[in-house]
Amino acid sequence: MILHAQTALLPEGWASNVRIIVTDGRIADVIPDSPPEGDSNALILPAPANLHSHTFQRAMAGLTEARTAGQDSFWTWRALMYRFVDHLTPEDVEAIAALAMIEMAEAGYAAAAEFHYLHHQPGGAPYANPAELSARIAAAAVDTGLGLTLLPVLYEQGGCDGRALAGGQLRFGCDLDRFQTLHAAARSALSRPDDAIGVAPHSLRAVSRASLAEVSRHQGPIHLHLAEQVAEVAEVQTAYGARPVEWALANLPVDQRWCMIHATQMKPFETAGLAATHAVAGLCPITEANLGDGIFDGPGWQAAGGRLGVGTDSNVQISLTGELRMLEYSQRLGQKARAVLADASRSTGRVLLDASLAGGAQAAGRRSGAIAPGLWADLMAPDTGPLDGLSGDTLLDAWIFATPDRPVANLWSAGRHIVRDGRHIARERVETRYRSHLAALKARA
Ligand code: ZN
Repeated sequence: MILHAQTALLPEGWASNVRIIVTDGRIADVIPDSPPEGDSNALILPAPANLHSHTFQRAMAGLTEARTAGQDSFWTWRALMYRFVDHLTPEDVEAIAALAMIEMAEAGYAAAAEFHYLHHQPGGAPYANPAELSARIAAAAVDTGLGLTLLPVLYEQGGCDGRALAGGQLRFGCDLDRFQTLHAAARSALSRPDDAIGVAPHSLRAVSRASLAEVSRHQGPIHLHLAEQVAEVAEVQTAYGARPVEWALANLPVDQRWCMIHATQMKPFETAGLAATHAVAGLCPITEANLGDGIFDGPGWQAAGGRLGVGTDSNVQISLTGELRMLEYSQRLGQKARAVLADASRSTGRVLLDASLAGGAQAAGRRSGAIAPGLWADLMAPDTGPLDGLSGDTLLDAWIFATPDRPVANLWSAGRHIVRDGRHIARERVETRYRSHLAALKARA
């Protein structure tokens, strides 16, 4: 396959008339200043990996915005999520995942790291295939063509005190032996050369210290929810005598394989310490705003040379440009300043995209994130209609900050051309199936 871009963002910067040659899903060659040949696009950018998603939560989007308690919070939202979880069948899980993945592709993500913790039947009994629901996620990825890094989640306990799981949590739970079996079965559900697998101890609340040490031995990326909520900080501090990030730095082999999801509640020493490990901070700005988590210390993280990427987490709204905007806007609101994350040589949009490309690829364990030979051809062609007359970083800023929320004309995941003219090629079929599953789910629930 040959693509031509009038403008493309290459590792060395903006380039004109770029020919991109793709062979077997990988970028084989990149030749600037070439005459037009093949599929022509005004602008081609690398397409990042979405580094954190729970696809099933897409079906709850918009259903938890009414007041349920004296003061709604992350914890009242979680109670609703647990009730919803009990009604999902494997077919529902696949149908919802497929629609979420279509929306991710249409938003500009070429791959997703699925932090997958819904494993068992309601009540906790395993399916005949212990990785049945992991296999459903893998099937949705194949169906939609989106790249996948599957992160089977270890979820052992209801809190740092080791209390047993209850209610909706029973579908998540594994002891370490059961989890290792499930993880091996999940690995065998992956079939494409660009698929990847890692491991996700859910959080310091949900995994014992002994098991955290054990799963840290897995190959591939390791993702952990860390320091999202103030109450979680207090729980970890009481149980383990240190703040969550502080404890992780002292007790876990944190390095570039790790992705700490949220990392919202950090003191400056934790920010500096975590940044120095080269772990990725997995930020989910839309979900963090939706759940009222707090504001990530962007300037502190940048000053310490920290790596970051973005994820869609609860999938309440699936928008790459929206995540990048929210990340910067939260900083502006907190700092009472503009262009907070820009640096001396790059605009805000450029810094955000560069970071999410590198951080997303690292966190997903995916050889992608740039238009360069040898990497998977994870590429997008933004809809440049609204961007006439702009170029370079300004073009990127206008795309991120000032265009409507379905801004991608074409997208390729490992060379698979899955979004054409702004729509995913299987949208109609997958959306129809999703609607019928949601209607049946509503009737059951
Ligand atoms: Zn999450």
